[in-house]
Amino acid sequence: MGITRFATMSDGNYLAPLNSFRRHEARLRRAQRTMSRKTKFSSNWKKAKARVQRIHSRIGHARRDYLHKATTTISKNHAMVYIENLQVRNMSRSAAGSNDAPGKNVRAKSGLNKAILDQGWFEFRRQLDYKLAWNGGWLIAVPPANTSRTCPVCGYVSAENRQTQARFVCIECGFEENADLVGAINILARGHRVAACGEPVQSDRSVKQEPTEAI
Ligand SMILES: [Zn+2]
Repeated sequence: MGITRFATMSDGNYLAPLNSFRRHEARLRRAQRTMSRKTKFSSNWKKAKARVQRIHSRIGHARRDYLHKATTTISKNHAMVYIENLQVRNMSRSAAGSNDAPGKNVRAKSGLNKAILDQGWFEFRRQLDYKLAWNGGWLIAVPPANTSRTCPVCGYVSAENRQTQARFVCIECGFEENADLVGAINILARGHRVAACGEPVQSDRSVKQEPTEAI
């Protein structure tokens, strides 16, 4: 899951960023400003408020539609999906920079935009989970530690492998690839180990039932 690519799959496919908010952002801000200038509870204020709400709901519709199409396609074509077990709280903390990935999208992740993205990630995972379940499949959340700085070819782990947000270059063997794709490949490999060797698994569904059933 990311900013420039909403989600990257281990086969190299990816989902475009959720920019429906950005497209409407300027209009929403204008409408909010207009509303703030009206006398509260006056009829002009009510009109302005209705406009703000209309823009909000249009943004929501576009986002839901996009996520439903994406999760339906994935769940129809895959029986088992591994996803990085990202906590929304961790995402906002890492915006300022962490050891794993120095923050390069602080602005993109801040404020309203960030809240929308967080919601998108949460909703994406929620839809994938129940749609896979409908089709008899599984969504398994995998701990993402080091997946962005491990070389999928030689296994070398270093923060230096990830010199920019977008590009992964292994300083040991020279393997070069899009950083989000590398993360997805590592999540898949870790997911397979979870499934094969019984490494601890985290799935909202399996935790409530018997954890071993997921394996
Ligand atoms: Zn390497």
